[in-house]
Amino acid sequence: MTWSHWFVAPAITSLFFLLGVLTLYWFLTNRIVRLLQKFGYHPDPEAVRNVFGLLYMIVIIFGLQFSVRDSANSWVFSNFKIFAVVFVSYFLLMDIHWWETIGTILIYMGINGTLGIPLSWIYAGVYVALFYVMKAMRTRKQDHWTDYFRFIIPSLILSAILWALIGFRFHLTTINILWEMLFIFLLLSMMYLYVDSLMTGAATLAQLTYTTNFDELTHVNNYFAFKNDFEEQFAHSRTTNQPLTLMLFDIDHFKQVNDTYGHLAGDYVLSHTAQLVTKQLGELDETLHLYRTGGEEFTILFTGYTTEQAAPLVHSIAQRVREAHFSHDGHQISISISVGVTQLRTDDDQRVDIFHRADSNLYHSKQTGRDRVTIQ
Ligand code: GH3
Ligand code: MG
Ligand code: MG
Repeated sequence: MTWSHWFVAPAITSLFFLLGVLTLYWFLTNRIVRLLQKFGYHPDPEAVRNVFGLLYMIVIIFGLQFSVRDSANSWVFSNFKIFAVVFVSYFLLMDIHWWETIGTILIYMGINGTLGIPLSWIYAGVYVALFYVMKAMRTRKQDHWTDYFRFIIPSLILSAILWALIGFRFHLTTINILWEMLFIFLLLSMMYLYVDSLMTGAATLAQLTYTTNFDELTHVNNYFAFKNDFEEQFAHSRTTNQPLTLMLFDIDHFKQVNDTYGHLAGDYVLSHTAQLVTKQLGELDETLHLYRTGGEEFTILFTGYTTEQAAPLVHSIAQRVREAHFSHDGHQISISISVGVTQLRTDDDQRVDIFHRADSNLYHSKQTGRDRVTIQ
C-alpha cells in the first residue's frame, strides 16, 4: 500500500469527525441558550457561543493531545490544532489577553512535556501568529466572495510554516507534508463553508426574532410580544396566586400633534416617549417592560405587583411624560397621557376580562378630563 492509500481513509474519517465536532458544538450551544432561557436568564447567544466555543476547543485539543503525548506520533493532531485556533479566532472573534495566551501555551506545553524544547516554542509562536492574523482577517470580512481567499491564503501560509517545522522535527517526507497540507486545505475550506452558513442562518434568525417581537418605530416590544407575555403571565399568576397588574396608557390629543407639527413630528414624539418610559422602567424595576399595543397606546405588565404597589410607579411615569419637552424641527412639544390600571382578580376567567377593565379605566381617565390615572 502506498502512503496515499492509507492517508485517504483517515482523511475522510477526520473530515467527518470535524463536521461532527462542529455540529455537536452548534447543537450544544443552542441547548445551553434554551436551558438558560428556561431558568429565566436571557443570555446573548453570541456570548454563549464564544465562551462555550473556547472551552469546547480547549477540552478537545487537550484531550486529543493527551492521548498521543510522549509518542513519536505527537504531531498527528497538528491539523486539528490549526483548525481549532482558526475556529476560535476567525469564527468566535475571541478577545484573548496576552497573559491568557501565554498561560494556555504554558499549560499546554507543560502537559505535553515540551517546555524545554526550543522548537516547541517556535511552534507556539506560529500558532499565536495564526490566531492574530486570522482575527485580523475576520475584521476585514466584507460579505463578498473574496472573503474566502482572505481566509484561506493566510491560514494556509501559516499552516505550511508549521508543517515545515513539524516535518523537520519528525523527519517526515515531502510527500507526507504535502498530503497534510492538502488535508488542512480541505478542513479549513469545509469549516469556512459550514460555519459561515450556520452563523449567517443564526444572524437571520436573530433578525427575524427581533422584527417579530419589536416595534420598528419605537424599538419597544410590539403587540405580538405583549400577547405572548400576557398569556404566560396570566396563566402563571392564576396558578401561583401572585398579583399581576396591568397598566394601559394612551397619549392625549395625539392627532393634534400630527395635525399641528406633521406626521414626522408625531413619529418623533412617539418614539421618544417610548424611550423615556423604557429608561424610567429600567431605573424603577428592570423586570418591567413596555409594549406598544396600538398606534399611540402602550401597555406595561407589572408582574408580582398589586395595584397599591404599582401606583407610585404609574404616577411617576405619567409625571415624567408630562414634564418632558420634545423638541422637533425647532418646535417644543409637550404631551400627557391618560392611564387605566387594574389588577388580576380571582373571577377573571380570561385575559380579556382584566384587559377590558384596564381599558374602561383608561376610557374613564379620558372622559374625566385626560392627563390622569384611574386605578380600580
Ligand atoms: P385622545 O386624547 O382621545 O386619545 O385623542 P387622540 O387624538 O390621541 O386620539 P385619536 O384616536 O383620535 O387619534 C390617534 C392618532 O394617533 C391618530 C393617528 O394618526 C395617530 N397615530 C397612530 N399611530 C401613529 C404613528 O405611528 N405615527 C404618527 N405620527 N401618528 C400615529
Ligand atoms: Mg390618544
Ligand atoms: Mg388611541
